[in-house]
Amino acid sequence: MTLNASDPTKPPHWDEYAEDKPREECGVFGIYSPQPADLAWMTYLGIFAMQHRGQEAAGICVSDGEKFHVEKDLGLVTQVFDERRLDNLRLANARVAIGHVRYSTTGSNLRFNAQPLTTRTNKGILGLAHNGNFVNAREVRDVMLMEGALFATTNDSEVMLNLIARESHMDLVEATAAAMQKLKGGYACVLMSRTQLIGFRDPNGVRPLVIGQRESENGAPGAYVLASEPCALFAVGARLLRDVLPGELVWMDRSGLHSLMVHPGKPTPCAFEWIYFARVDSILDGVDSHAARLRMGAQLAREHPVDADIVVPVPDSGMVAAIGYARESGIPFDYGLYKNPYAGRSFIAPTQEARELKVKMKLSPTAAVAGKRVVLVDDSIVRGTTSRQIVNLLREAGATEVHFRVSSPPIRFPCFYGIDTAARKELVASTHSTEQIRELIGADTLSFISERGLREAVAGPGLCLACFNGEYPAGTPLLNDVDKLALEV
Ligand code: SF4
Repeated sequence: MTLNASDPTKPPHWDEYAEDKPREECGVFGIYSPQPADLAWMTYLGIFAMQHRGQEAAGICVSDGEKFHVEKDLGLVTQVFDERRLDNLRLANARVAIGHVRYSTTGSNLRFNAQPLTTRTNKGILGLAHNGNFVNAREVRDVMLMEGALFATTNDSEVMLNLIARESHMDLVEATAAAMQKLKGGYACVLMSRTQLIGFRDPNGVRPLVIGQRESENGAPGAYVLASEPCALFAVGARLLRDVLPGELVWMDRSGLHSLMVHPGKPTPCAFEWIYFARVDSILDGVDSHAARLRMGAQLAREHPVDADIVVPVPDSGMVAAIGYARESGIPFDYGLYKNPYAGRSFIAPTQEARELKVKMKLSPTAAVAGKRVVLVDDSIVRGTTSRQIVNLLREAGATEVHFRVSSPPIRFPCFYGIDTAARKELVASTHSTEQIRELIGADTLSFISERGLREAVAGPGLCLACFNGEYPAGTPLLNDVDKLALEV
């Protein structure tokens, strides 16, 4: 393993935490086809469509009812899967497949933590792909370790597989439902055996999961598809049927699509899906993320108006909210920051100077800002370091005033449900007032959307707002400030 250049005691990817953004979570995909089909290719297309949800690792698992093949590795989908690897997965009579893109919210970025996880159990061989976190995984795992259980990875998904395997007197669906009752947190999973595809979502529906179906050519039922976001359904020619409900377990097999409500709870999906994570063309829990972001920008303009010449988004995260702000305020929208589309995410910047250069590598101001009073719109501020550098870039390019507007409330608390918002002590809003943050980032004014305004803008189900207000709807770990390496003992 290559050690981290700035701190050899930390994993190699650690410097990326210095970035000033909540990090994506994971994306899951599953497909069950009553007819033999090229499920390896469809799963590739599905996880490629969700690359924005995780860039550290990717994997696909396929079965034809007998054989069970898995390929996974660190890297982007296009880096992990070349023709040879896809061919390994191309089973002539494939019926079930799952896929995963990963950002390591629990367990470090090592190959053995890549998913899908596969294991042999009394229910046959199983594959699991998981998005989110089980907040009590450590306690459950500790009990299992005391009883002699073996774990091959350091991520919490393996705890779920072990719980399922332990229910030896139950069938796979019953055992999965029983495991759901034991694990708490925000999660959405796809699980496959040789003949079944199962999907399930936590009782609060914190993490998203949708069901779709492909049209068949001969009038027979088309393949069923599960995915974190509808964009992955559309990528394989499926239409959106509905969201998996909070606390619901669905399964697909030769006899069709089935549902079991295991643990109904109060729906509180993650507000950040609409603020930033979900693709702008996704509709989750009935709420269109593009429309929600426009409403957030408009709400921000109503709550925090300012006299200015142009509205500039921080690309790409602030783009749609900036359009909403511009429309509501009547201030012209302009392209004031260029984002280099080739700037990768895996670059490690070992020093502060290198990190500042890294921001310049990604973003560069255009001439549109010279001599202008700029409203700068972004989706969030985590540490404040990147925000300060962007304000500097605009001033160096001749902006006369920079008014920072943020389409999420201040992030004061860590997320325990699968989003890497950094440890609490690193969150600038947990230790600084808005005025202190304004001073720190060098803006003329700084304002955040209110919690009420955010709720109104999403205008859908109840919301998890825990990283803003500390009210965790799906419980917290016993150790209240655990980090994502908590299982590495
Ligand atoms: S704590 Fe924040 S990031 Fe985490 S699930 Fe809740 S709203 Fe989303």
